[in-house]
Amino acid sequence: PGPLIVIDGPAGAGKSTVARTVAEAIGAALLDTGAIYRGLAYLARERGVDWDDEPGLAAIAATLRIEFQPAAEPGAPQRVLISSDEPGAETLDVTSSIRTPDISDGASRVSRHQAVRAALLDIQRAIAATSVESGHGCVAEGRDMGTVVFPDARHKFFLTASAAARAGRRHKELVARGQAPSRTQVEVEMARRDQRDSSRATAPLQQAKDAALIDSSELDVAAVVSRILAAVDP
Ligand code: C5P
Repeated sequence: PGPLIVIDGPAGAGKSTVARTVAEAIGAALLDTGAIYRGLAYLARERGVDWDDEPGLAAIAATLRIEFQPAAEPGAPQRVLISSDEPGAETLDVTSSIRTPDISDGASRVSRHQAVRAALLDIQRAIAATSVESGHGCVAEGRDMGTVVFPDARHKFFLTASAAARAGRRHKELVARGQAPSRTQVEVEMARRDQRDSSRATAPLQQAKDAALIDSSELDVAAVVSRILAAVDP
């Protein structure tokens, strides 16, 4: 089997870029679990299901299908396609529509519900299992990879950075995508999400006891990636 590498941490710590770069370096699949919560929030919005309606959301989660496809060009984010098991459901390419501040907020709200998290466990494990068994390996990133979804993973990392560094990075990312929130708006929104993610009763954001802590406040992507690669394959 291939390696299973899990990376958890708060928004803006550089997780997605780091996870993508590590995956590309070793030819592993990338499991972006935030995209699954975002896809669910998006689908709920499309269907008029409230982000606080736990049974309604769990019903959508139970039939959710998500597929990750390689990006058109190297370095670009992979494509995210969602659909559902229901007859006649169409496949939607939500690659960019799930990256808005509104859907960020929705993902954080839908992810608080225990029934939603439980319904999404199998999807996450199945995607990782396919890539690990094929020998390619998988890099899974999220909030509870090392603690809940893959507690037995051998390679666990917790990536963090100061609040200022994280807000700065997220702001730059949004501006690059053509959105123009103010820096203050980004900081406020991020603080609200952090607070919600770390205080929720179910699977709060937490470093797994056996995860290696990497603070990226003063490190660039290449430095973080090489630490991870060195630890995985010393
Ligand atoms: O990582 P990303 O910003 O895409 O995640 C969006 C939201 O989804 C997070 O704020 C968090 O509330 C939720 N999430 C989660 N568990 C994960 C991944 C994401 O609760 N494993």
